[in-house]
Amino acid sequence: TAGRKPLIAGNWKMNLNHLEAIATVQKLAFALNDKDFDRADVAVLPPYTDLRSVQTLVDGDKLRILYGAQDLSPYDGGAYTGEISGAMLAKLGCTFVTIGHSERRQYHREDDELVNGKVLAAHRHSLTPILCVGEGLEVRRSGGHVAHSVAQLEGALRKVPAEQAASIVLAYEPVWAIGTGEVATPADAQEVCGALRSRLAELYDGEVAAAVRILYGGSVKSDNIAGIMAQPDVDGALVGGASLDAAEFARICRFG
Ligand code: PEP
Repeated sequence: TAGRKPLIAGNWKMNLNHLEAIATVQKLAFALNDKDFDRADVAVLPPYTDLRSVQTLVDGDKLRILYGAQDLSPYDGGAYTGEISGAMLAKLGCTFVTIGHSERRQYHREDDELVNGKVLAAHRHSLTPILCVGEGLEVRRSGGHVAHSVAQLEGALRKVPAEQAASIVLAYEPVWAIGTGEVATPADAQEVCGALRSRLAELYDGEVAAAVRILYGGSVKSDNIAGIMAQPDVDGALVGGASLDAAEFARICRFG
C-alpha cells in the first residue's frame, strides 16, 4: 500500500433503518480502538435516511468513524424529484459518496457519462467519490476484465483534473463476486488494481497514481481480508453484506 492509509468502507445497501443504524455504529465504535483507527480509515455508507442520525452520533460522541452516501445526483439542485444533491450530503458531514456501484449500473442503467457527471458533482461539494468499476462474469470468462475495468475508469474521469483525480478512492468490484460468496483471489484483485493504477499514471502522472487508494470489493469477510490486504496495489476493501454485522465488520477493519 506504499504509504497510502488503508480504507475499509461498509456499503450497507438498502438495509438498516435509522434506529438500527445508530445501534450498528455504536457497536462498531465500541469494537474498535484508537490503534485500529490509526492503522486504517473506517467508513460506513448507510442509506440516505440514516445519515442525519449517524452524523448526530459521530459528532456527539466524537467518533473516528467516517461516513458517506451510496449515490448522489449529478445536479446541484432543482426540479429533480427523488434525487439527493452533493450539497445536501456535504451539509450532513459526509466524507464519501459511492458512485457507479454495479447495482446502480445494472438496475438503474447508469452509464459512464452519468457516472462521470456524478464524479464531477461530488468534487463540486468536496465529497470523496468511491468510484466503483468491475466486470461481469461473461467479460471475466472472455478475459476482458482488465480492459473493461480500465474503460470504466476512463469514462468516469473525463474532464476530471489531476488534483481532483488524486483524491478519489477507486473500488474494483468484479460483479460476479458481489453478494455471491465467490471472492476473487488476491492475485485476481491485484491484477486489476495494478492495471487501474498504471492507467492513472498514464492519464495523469505517477504522483496521482501513487496517491489514489484502490479498494477491492466482492464477498470480503474477516477470513479472506488478510490475503487481499497483502497485495501491493490493494489499499482496502469495500464490504457489502459483512458490514451489516458490527463485530464482523470490526474484524475486517483489523484485517482479520
Ligand atoms: C458491495 O456491495 O459493494 C459488495 C462488495 O458486496 P458484498 O461484500 O456483499 O459482496
